[in-house]
Amino acid sequence: MSDFSNQKVVISGATRGIGKAIATAFLEQGATVIGLYAGNRQAADNFKEECLKYQDRIHLYQCDVSDYTSVENIYARIEEQFDTIDILINNAGIRRDGVLAMMPLKDWQQVIDTNLTGSYTMSKFAVQLMMKQKYGRIIFITSPMAHMGFAGQANYAASKAGQIGMMKSLSKETAKRKITVNCVSPGFIATELIGDLSEDLQKEYKKLVPLKRFGSPDDVSHAVLFLASKKAGYITGSVLEVTGGL
Ligand code: NDP
Repeated sequence: MSDFSNQKVVISGATRGIGKAIATAFLEQGATVIGLYAGNRQAADNFKEECLKYQDRIHLYQCDVSDYTSVENIYARIEEQFDTIDILINNAGIRRDGVLAMMPLKDWQQVIDTNLTGSYTMSKFAVQLMMKQKYGRIIFITSPMAHMGFAGQANYAASKAGQIGMMKSLSKETAKRKITVNCVSPGFIATELIGDLSEDLQKEYKKLVPLKRFGSPDDVSHAVLFLASKKAGYITGSVLEVTGGL
């Protein structure tokens, strides 16, 4: 594992699921973590409690990434407190499944606003800070649904495909400043996001995975920490799949 001492990492959706595993892994490797969550205060308090031994290096803020002004304000606070940041993980994401023909506009909009526009806003202000030091790592947590599609997930798949297009473009804009931009694409990962799947569906989906199991949040965090490390300095504009072979 790489040493992330003295590195500052911003993670959206840092207090549950995959984001929490990523935040914990960075804390274990010496980083300072600035974690955002949407509104589940209980989960944030519980995570803070679990991280008491890292209390000097963990900073949790409530910030809805789909709200441009909230993100702008949180970055002003980050700049005041930390000056710059080294790593951004665009992890916050939601699902609002339904077949497209019956999908209410609000379900389309909420998913695009959170997963895609949220990634744009978070990246925009992160790049402005990273440019000052001519170094940075930006990682989007996308999904294989971006290229596979899935019945009932037109909004989610579109948001995840959009993240990949944004990542590819941004990687070309920031390369000369030594800011790399990549995606990690997890398959089925056991978190609350897919907690609504019935046992029968879970069994069916596990059969589709060549490695015959759902991944864990730690399976994803290992890949994220590699791409965020200095050793990954020649990797940009790529998608790393953590899918069990899906
Ligand atoms: P969870 O539902 O377990 O956690 C989601 C996290 O995102 C929570 O911390 C939540 O905050 C935060 N969040 C949601 N909306 C916002 C918002 N508007 N502003 C700020 N934070 C927000 O999800 P996962 O950990 O499973 O998923 C994380 C990412 O991984 C997502 O982008 C998801 O699409 C992607 N992914 C997940 C897969 C899976 O199988 N689990 C597979 C492929 C990709 P709060 O606690 O306050 O609600």
